[in-house]
Amino acid sequence: MFLPKLREVKEALTSFFTAPYTTKFPKEPFEPSKHYRGFPRYDEEECIGCGACVQVCPATAIELSDDKENLKRVLRVNYTSCIQCGQCEEHCTTEKGIICTTEYSHSTSDLNDPDTVETIEKEIVFCEVCGEVIGCRDHLNWIKERLGAKAYAHPNFLLETQAQFFDLDPSKPKDRIRREDQIKEVCPKCRYKIVVSDEF
Ligand code: SF4
Ligand code: SF4
Repeated sequence: MFLPKLREVKEALTSFFTAPYTTKFPKEPFEPSKHYRGFPRYDEEECIGCGACVQVCPATAIELSDDKENLKRVLRVNYTSCIQCGQCEEHCTTEKGIICTTEYSHSTSDLNDPDTVETIEKEIVFCEVCGEVIGCRDHLNWIKERLGAKAYAHPNFLLETQAQFFDLDPSKPKDRIRREDQIKEVCPKCRYKIVVSDEF
């Protein structure tokens, strides 16, 4: 009975003179390990706006909205819902479009605090026949680069290349499909109608 008491006294004295294991966060900022997986951030250059991260997020923390008026796709990570699981980074199409940082705290009592969201905007491309969204321009160019010379067999990629060198007039959705719409940027459904159904 006597020896254990001595041991406890020794432990108490040692603890008294050594630094605490716990940190003083939030009074003092905490520096996490460089391997810590924290909140994700988009990379403007590497993200192509494909939306795969939205689909894999288990916490539905990422929203995707297409603003047809301003030709923009907006991807928004809500840090108040994000569980820092890293699935978005793991499954990113380009593997570098969204990266988990070591940021760990966006605590706030104001849900409208801009610090609690991470947003990226990408230009969208519309179907020149029906007006539906085809995808983001960066996404189309990303596919085009991977296809190499084969990409020019598809009018959408051909026109994307043309748009890099010339200012093409924006096209408006039409009331009906015409045969010449083959050489337009059109969505898969409209291309099917033009090429396969031949609906003129
Ligand atoms: S490129 Fe990556 S980060 Fe960007 S939308 Fe696609 S999956 Fe998300
Ligand atoms: S880290 Fe996980 S929860 Fe957070 S945005 Fe990415 S997929 Fe969603």
